[in-house]
Amino acid sequence: MKGFEYLQEQLDEMKDQGTFRQLIPLESAQGSKVTIKGKEVIQLSSNNYLGLTSHPKMKEAAERANEEYGVGTGSVRTIAGTLKMHEDFEEKLAKFKHTEAALVFQSGFTTNQGVLSSILGKEDVVISDELNHASIIDGIRLTKADRKIYKHVDMQSLEDALKESADYRTRLVVTDGVFSMDGNIAPLPEIVELAEKYDALIMVDDAHASGVLGDNGRGTVNHFNLDGRVHIQVGTLSKAIGVLGGYVASTKTLREYLIHKGRPFLFSTSHPPSVTAANDAAIDVLLNEPELIEKLWDNTKFFKDGLNELGFDTGISETPVTPVMIGDDAMTHKFSDELFEEGVFAQGIVFPTVQRGKGRVRTIVTAEHSKEELQEALDAFETVGKKLGII
Ligand code: PMP
Repeated sequence: MKGFEYLQEQLDEMKDQGTFRQLIPLESAQGSKVTIKGKEVIQLSSNNYLGLTSHPKMKEAAERANEEYGVGTGSVRTIAGTLKMHEDFEEKLAKFKHTEAALVFQSGFTTNQGVLSSILGKEDVVISDELNHASIIDGIRLTKADRKIYKHVDMQSLEDALKESADYRTRLVVTDGVFSMDGNIAPLPEIVELAEKYDALIMVDDAHASGVLGDNGRGTVNHFNLDGRVHIQVGTLSKAIGVLGGYVASTKTLREYLIHKGRPFLFSTSHPPSVTAANDAAIDVLLNEPELIEKLWDNTKFFKDGLNELGFDTGISETPVTPVMIGDDAMTHKFSDELFEEGVFAQGIVFPTVQRGKGRVRTIVTAEHSKEELQEALDAFETVGKKLGII
């Protein structure tokens, strides 16, 4: 059919550059091992940090909700689609996060979009780390506020931006808590100090820190003992929490404001009962099974140390998100393909997700991996690393 030839041209260009990728369907449940193309491989690419996608208590809660309340809600939250369980979960989440209130959006992506686009106007400025997640960038694009981008975790650059921002109604500093491609933690204590000095508000995206950092996985703010000093915490329920959704944990005022102005919240149907019930059960799992987070960190140390001992460059990672830096885009994909042949699924990440020339195979171990599986994965990295001249 005629009309979209320019799209095909761009796809062909990606094929020439070696950056074109097919989707890779799993033929099994998510887990430490998964089946892909009929082959069982060690999974090192999921965000299923604690293995909660298949936690029996959460599955049971989902099944019960399905049975009792059906598979869908039939409406957006603001018309007829708020179930009592939606509000009960939000209260539980707020308590868990030590905030006054919480509100759940359909995903982490729409949370960032909905919050940023609604709370800032042309009298305001948003000051954002240059490596913040795409959903923060898109949220900022939707605001009428002025924007300043500071160099990645560079506090001088942040302070310069704050100094230039004195005349705005609101200065909002936005940062990922854990950066999704490098696995480093934002220097939140310094950010808080600067924000307090220049009278700015702070928003932290804890997508990769919820369930990973802080007491029982309360996130970056709790990890740094900064409860009460960060104005807005957002995050996802789809990574360590294992299900689906995004949340904002903040004040009652912000919650009520977002119910009226957060467009994805207003105009998109609410979560099915099974999703909310499973998310709710996940909080109990975080509170009752702290050994899962301990195992996640123990596995992270084992695997990261192993990679470093083999001579791989894992960049500035401080968390389970552990990139293995490769560089060239095509070589990054080749490395990932060779790993698959060796029984390991670890996706290559290249431009535009990361800067050109900063291609990497991003690994994330989970609490589900056994030491044997991780050693097997390290052996595969050694074989491929030597074969392709990376180590
Ligand atoms: N923020 C960050 C930092 C993320 O890594 C992600 C997930 N890719 C999101 C937000 C979006 O979360 P979700 O997958 O729930 O939309």
